[in-house]
Amino acid sequence: MIPGAFEYHRPSSVADAVALLAKLGDDARVLAGGHSLVPMMKLRLAMPQHLVDLGGVKDLKGVRVEGADIVIGAMTTQHEAITSELLAAKVPILREAALQIADPQVRYCGTVGGNVANGDPGNDMPAVMMCLNASYRVRGAGGERRIAARDFYEGAYFTALEPSEIVTAIQIQAPPTGHGYAYEKLKRKIGDYATAAAAVILTIRDGKATSCSIGLTNVGERPLWAEDASQILTGSSLDAATIKKAVAAAEAITAPASDNRGPAAYRTKVAGVMLARALARARQRAKA
Ligand SMILES: Cc1cc2nc3c(=O)[nH]c(=O)nc-3n(C[C@H](O)[C@H](O)[C@H](O)COP(=O)(O)OP(=O)(O)OC[C@H]3O[C@@H](n4cnc5c(N)ncnc54)[C@H](O)[C@@H]3O)c2cc1C
Repeated sequence: MIPGAFEYHRPSSVADAVALLAKLGDDARVLAGGHSLVPMMKLRLAMPQHLVDLGGVKDLKGVRVEGADIVIGAMTTQHEAITSELLAAKVPILREAALQIADPQVRYCGTVGGNVANGDPGNDMPAVMMCLNASYRVRGAGGERRIAARDFYEGAYFTALEPSEIVTAIQIQAPPTGHGYAYEKLKRKIGDYATAAAAVILTIRDGKATSCSIGLTNVGERPLWAEDASQILTGSSLDAATIKKAVAAAEAITAPASDNRGPAAYRTKVAGVMLARALARARQRAKA
């Protein structure tokens, strides 16, 4: 399929990109790696009149430390996130999750910012960012603001972003040294979106979970932060009965579609199984 006609713009600064978006209004869309937007355009599910390519904005690239936080520029590719030594050392769940996105070809172009801003519940990064309690730095005609990942997703392809706003970076407070982490994803084949996936970050002291956070991918209209399940596990010794209760609480907040990945009830159960596996692996990795 061939996309509809559009005008191409390539600003070289965030200020220029935001000014263009404000001027062009609803007819414009931001282009990052193009690996979600261009397929949608080819299917004519998106027909923007203007594409504002962020590829020339150098300030949006790279991973850096800012105080106690890790900051990932929105145009950092998924491949660059996988090869970042800083992320591997401080927030290894990002590498684990990014390696399960699509295939190397997609990851060379697809960006972390595009993955979180897209609003597709099938994207893997949003639930991980919710699990990490990350926030998104956003810039628009009205200035700069920060939106918590847990408040960003409003529905399938609906986010808290205003039309003239772009995500400039993702900010994450690195979890404590020695934390346990895991991202477990069931997919039908390499390169597929999740039937269901679960992200877990936890810390353990004296045999008890001192903190636990859980995110779920592709089992609802939006990525999910499983707050109740996280709370059930926090303070527990991660015994079998408590894990069973937490898994049930996580399954209870899912509302997946029945589709070619399976009926809704199956996908809910897969989410529970992914969570149980992620908890077991995160626990093994946590240094008490
Ligand atoms: C075959 C295939 C398999 C895939 N499998 C997976 C998978 O398993 N898991 C997964 O997570 N993803 C998967 N993807 C999607 C891929 O990860 C995309 O790269 C990603 O979803 C979007 O990133 P992008 O940089 O390509 O964004 P684009 O496609 O350029 O943009 C996506 C959307 O986000 C908006 N946008 C982009 N950047 C910004 C920004 N900085 N600020 C505001 N809005 C912005 C765009 O306007 C657009 O609406 C797959 C893609 C393909 C083609």
